[in-house]
Amino acid sequence: MVAELVDLHAALENDQVVPYFQPLVALRTGKLTGFEVLARWDDPAGGPRLPSNFVTLAEQNGLIGALTRQVFGKAFAAAAAVPAPLSLSVNISPVQMHYLSLPGQIRALADEAGFPLDRLILEITESAFFNNVEQAKTIAAELKAMGCRLALDDFGTGYSNLSHLLALSFDELKVDRSFVGAMTDSRNSRKVVAAIVGLATSLGLVTVAEGVETEEQADMLLCLGCELGQGWLYGKPVGQEQLAGMVSEAAWVSPFVLTSPGDGWAVSSLEALPTQRLAQLQAIYDGAPVGLCFLDRDLRYVSLNKKLAEMNGTTVSAHLGRRVQEMVPEMYAMFEPHLLQALQGLAIEGFEVIRPAKVAGEQGVVTLVSYQPAWDEADEVIGISVSVVDITQHKRTEAALLVSEDHRQQMEEQTKQVPWVMDAEGNSLQVSSHWVQEAGVHKGKPRNLGWLEALHGDDLAPTLRTMKEALRTGKPIDIQYRVCVDDVWRWMRSRGTARLGAGGEILRWYGTVEDVGEERLMGPTAATN
Ligand code: C2E
Ligand code: MG
Ligand code: MG
Repeated sequence: MVAELVDLHAALENDQVVPYFQPLVALRTGKLTGFEVLARWDDPAGGPRLPSNFVTLAEQNGLIGALTRQVFGKAFAAAAAVPAPLSLSVNISPVQMHYLSLPGQIRALADEAGFPLDRLILEITESAFFNNVEQAKTIAAELKAMGCRLALDDFGTGYSNLSHLLALSFDELKVDRSFVGAMTDSRNSRKVVAAIVGLATSLGLVTVAEGVETEEQADMLLCLGCELGQGWLYGKPVGQEQLAGMVSEAAWVSPFVLTSPGDGWAVSSLEALPTQRLAQLQAIYDGAPVGLCFLDRDLRYVSLNKKLAEMNGTTVSAHLGRRVQEMVPEMYAMFEPHLLQALQGLAIEGFEVIRPAKVAGEQGVVTLVSYQPAWDEADEVIGISVSVVDITQHKRTEAALLVSEDHRQQMEEQTKQVPWVMDAEGNSLQVSSHWVQEAGVHKGKPRNLGWLEALHGDDLAPTLRTMKEALRTGKPIDIQYRVCVDDVWRWMRSRGTARLGAGGEILRWYGTVEDVGEERLMGPTAATN
């Protein structure tokens, strides 16, 4: 220990403590916003040594001031290679937050190197407040008055005391990397990050995630509304000789201009406003003509709209927090298998459920129920979005139509006379019978007397002549011709009359056709009436 201390003394005297620089980026665009300065002990014997090996030692032995001066001075000088508006974040030891001289020292170092204070972010941890809130407040106020920004570092570890968060007017909150590292595997870590980001956003702070190592973490953080990221995914800390190269290769944006269009800031800030999101969702919910609700993994109502509450015969508040089984016990058996599938991640589209009538003697309500699983950022199902559409009216109309279609078919089968409709040009508009289709009339085309193509060759010319004559004069049609049914030529008799308009012009033809057998009937000769 003593040997270490002696070594650190020597290192500081020999200028061996140097700044390394780690990029900070906008998560949405991946653009550079600045660098964090991290101290390294450039030990000629063993390569760069990490701060965990010497910062505490320096703090405990009165060397932290010298260390800070060395790191800050060199960092500001090197930052000549860092153009505006990129920022520089430096760490201040909690010990130093006891010294009222700190702001003056920082100003002197920055001025000496010509680094503007409004691009400087000072990172402090919560331990800076221990037995020291008033002093910390005074120092922080002076630093802010100089134009510096303040970041609360490593938030989420330690005490995470909310009064600390409010004590100084912080600009940034850095989410500790222990949560970021665990969030893709642990739902609870994810919840902690979501809560920290939500809290920071609602206080108007920029959130920075530390220790971002994978794209998956970056995507998740972005979804949660986090704005900046720092970590190996974007770059490890590098020595000052590599700083200029890193800057020249990158595209960058200002970390401070949160509303500048085009960088995605405005959008991400808006998306992250939970109160607005809720209000929008509620408006959609309440205006929807269908029943909607969201169920959690235990099938409890997290939210629902008035329409669904009405369908279930009670109020919205009576549902919240209760399970589906409790609210609609009589239907639960129908829902359960589908709900369980939805919890496995399967979307269930529209199954019919008849809801029993609320009043005895009335008919039940027919509904179409759909389940859509909702996933969180780690693709785990966190609940089910439910929609319920009342299709009772639709069902009644459908049933009535089926009945009337059935009636019509029955009548046709009885009479063997099939109605047809034709327009003034001879386009067949409707010949709606099964047996006419079978009879091969469909072989001809409906347009322009095209149906005649299905006729026996001998009947074609005379029928065409008669039809053309009828279309010209409007005289009633009564013709016989043969069509082929099951390989047998059968005679059809078709009769029709024209419906005339006010000026005597033909509007439509209405008629019937019937199968009169294999022998031609006596009466009107084919194709002449
Ligand atoms: P910090 O301020 O929270 O710095 C972030 C630490 O996370 C750095 O460790 C950085 O190298 C590390 N890190 C960044 N991205 C990743 C990543 O993707 N994965 C992992 N595993 N780690 C990542 P480092 O450089 O060892 O610094 C440790 C701590 O030492 C710093 O934590 C800071 O509290 C302190 N420190 C560093 N430089 C100084 C300084 O100049 N003065 C003072 N007072 N403290 C310093
Ligand atoms: Mg830091
Ligand atoms: Mg940190």
